[in-house]
Amino acid sequence: MTHIPGIVITGASGRMGQMLIKTVTDSDQARLVGVVERQGHDWIGQDVGEAMGGPALGVLITDDPLEAFAQAQAVIDFTAPEATLEFAALAAQARCVHVIGTTGMSDEQIVALEPASRHAVIVRAGNMSLGVNLLVQLTKKVAAALDEDFDIEVIEGHHHHKVDAPSGTALMLGEAAAEGRGVKLADVSDRGRDGITGARKRGDIGFHAIRGGDIVGEHDVLFAAPGERIVLRHLATDRAIFARGALKAALWGQGKAPGQYDMVDVLGL
Ligand code: NAD
Repeated sequence: MTHIPGIVITGASGRMGQMLIKTVTDSDQARLVGVVERQGHDWIGQDVGEAMGGPALGVLITDDPLEAFAQAQAVIDFTAPEATLEFAALAAQARCVHVIGTTGMSDEQIVALEPASRHAVIVRAGNMSLGVNLLVQLTKKVAAALDEDFDIEVIEGHHHHKVDAPSGTALMLGEAAAEGRGVKLADVSDRGRDGITGARKRGDIGFHAIRGGDIVGEHDVLFAAPGERIVLRHLATDRAIFARGALKAALWGQGKAPGQYDMVDVLGL
């Protein structure tokens, strides 16, 4: 009989947490063994039952991450940067694969994941969907094929609850465009909360963020030159695409050597 990995989901009451609970519960390749929420979160039991479509039997519901991680082979984590850093150390201690969907991590926070990745597998991606990871590859190719007559602008839209801007996906696309063009992406941290470009040097990549309503996630990469434009676009209409990608990463990571990986590794792109 093949071993079915046990999964813990952190941030269980969140938008992605709820979708992940449903996705793992519905899968016959994984078992949901536990969920973690912040201390003092009143609704977690009810939220978990609702997402599972019935009573949360056999699922540990806790605010103690290590207690849950000790029973699992993988942790799927879509929470917040500080929480993700804490979970990385604890997941490594429990030798769990840590799938990180959390965005908005600073460069320092990303570097701080390094010690954990010496003991356990970390798969981190600003976007876990197959479509966006393909778009990243296409962006790199198109940027490499075009000369500097083409301005490159990344335009993204999300729901109004989203805290970070530009989105993690927009940054992935911007980095891919910069790599394709053979330049270094200029620091975007001083572009402001809305990710608005402002004045920028020729050849630099621009970012624009729209926040409104219940937009799940929309990304355009615009290549604009005098006389012609190319637009590469991904529209997410259902969070299930991120949850399915995260589960795929959790399964893929089983038995892999400790280290840091991304969805390009998982999807073999
Ligand atoms: P959300 O605010 O709805 O949910 C976050 C949840 O995490 C909340 O329930 C919160 O209580 C919980 N949380 C925060 N700190 C915690 C802690 N210390 N311990 C336990 N739980 C804690 O947000 P969301 O829309 O679900 O998004 C979560 C993250 O995932 C964001 O960073 C978002 O940008 C990212 N995201 C990534 C992808 C991807 O494909 N990589 C897709 C969608 C969202």
